[in-house]
Amino acid sequence: MKFFFRVIVIGATVFFCCGCAMGGSGSRENASAGGAGDLEGQASGHTWQNAAGMQNDTAAGQDRETARQYVDTAMGTVIQQTVYASEDAASDFFERSKALLTGLEQEELSWRLDTSQVWRVNAAAGSEEGCGVSEELAALLQECLELYGRSGGAFDITLGPLTRLWDIDKWAAGGADDEEGFRPPSAEELEDALRLCGSDRVRIVSPSSEGEETKIFLPEGMQLDLGAVGKGLALSRIGSMLEEGEGISGAVISLGGSILTFGGKPDGSSWKVGIVNPFDTSSNVGILSLEGQWCVSTSGDYERYVEADGVRYHHILDPATGYPAVSKVRGVTVLAKDGLLSDGLSTACFLLGTDRGMKLAEEYDVEVLFVMSDGSIVMSEGMEPYFTKL
Ligand code: ADP
Ligand code: MG
Repeated sequence: MKFFFRVIVIGATVFFCCGCAMGGSGSRENASAGGAGDLEGQASGHTWQNAAGMQNDTAAGQDRETARQYVDTAMGTVIQQTVYASEDAASDFFERSKALLTGLEQEELSWRLDTSQVWRVNAAAGSEEGCGVSEELAALLQECLELYGRSGGAFDITLGPLTRLWDIDKWAAGGADDEEGFRPPSAEELEDALRLCGSDRVRIVSPSSEGEETKIFLPEGMQLDLGAVGKGLALSRIGSMLEEGEGISGAVISLGGSILTFGGKPDGSSWKVGIVNPFDTSSNVGILSLEGQWCVSTSGDYERYVEADGVRYHHILDPATGYPAVSKVRGVTVLAKDGLLSDGLSTACFLLGTDRGMKLAEEYDVEVLFVMSDGSIVMSEGMEPYFTKL
């Protein structure tokens, strides 16, 4: 599989670009001034551009102001990390963030790997003993159940039987035409799968005495799928690592459709995060200008889909019907301080549409922007100061 990476400098403005397919191992580069080129490529959910502030002098004292980039794959998507730091601090960070992501997938979230807690919770579905989980995972599940309630059941992490029936994991990121062998499930298959879903039937039982674990009980046949929040959670954890760590003055981490900004750039200018145009994913509908720590997540019908017999089936499913959600919305971007919120709410708001989605965003105190199927843009009032239309 192909994997490529470019650092491009245009005058004083630096664009980091990544056009990629899955696979391959990570590549590291120092971004240095010099050369010229055009903006090309993008991460799957956003492009981001890093305006000005780059130093090509890496002498001591300026070392921390050098942007260093690491591109790799993690959690089934592309991760592009750029930090302003010394070489040692950057390489230490890249190593630790890689370990964090690998651990998160292998030990906590993956439903495919029998080493993960989610796998064990799923395997214990229907058992009387339930399954003990870490406090972190219990807290994550609790937040997801809360979002299930607040979204009126639209956001549902128990759709595992349904996402497996559709075989969403096999669909190419970015979409595929007439995927070989794809056929939509029958109404009967969907009904059968839907009967196994429903977050209201998940039980989380707190430990009765110290030293015991929180237990999760799923009814028989239910399977968790944390695809809607995994990347956001990963960004939150990386955010904490950056906060606690030393020697990194600024960072932008892009993990599939979610982006984390941290700290600042040497010249004090803001981070620029592009919001992809769902009608032409090689362009942006606008840019968010952000300072300090933020998480930006986008959910859209163009991110992962398959087309068969002229019909497009995308990866955000309506728990009421079992089919991809029918919506006037093509893409939703949520801006939040926390990655779990930005990721979870972008999926939820896609399903809820503008009126209910906007209300939900307000309840959670996050900002939201909808790109509608007629091309119009609808956003919360608090998003306006950050957004520049292109
Ligand atoms: P992406 O992972 O591409 O950024 P999202 O964050 O919107 O996109 O999450 C979509 C994923 O969430 C799907 O691939 C599937 O695993 C899961 N999912 C699909 N429909 C729902 C839903 N209604 N509620 C919760 N999770 C969902
Ligand atoms: Mg999401």
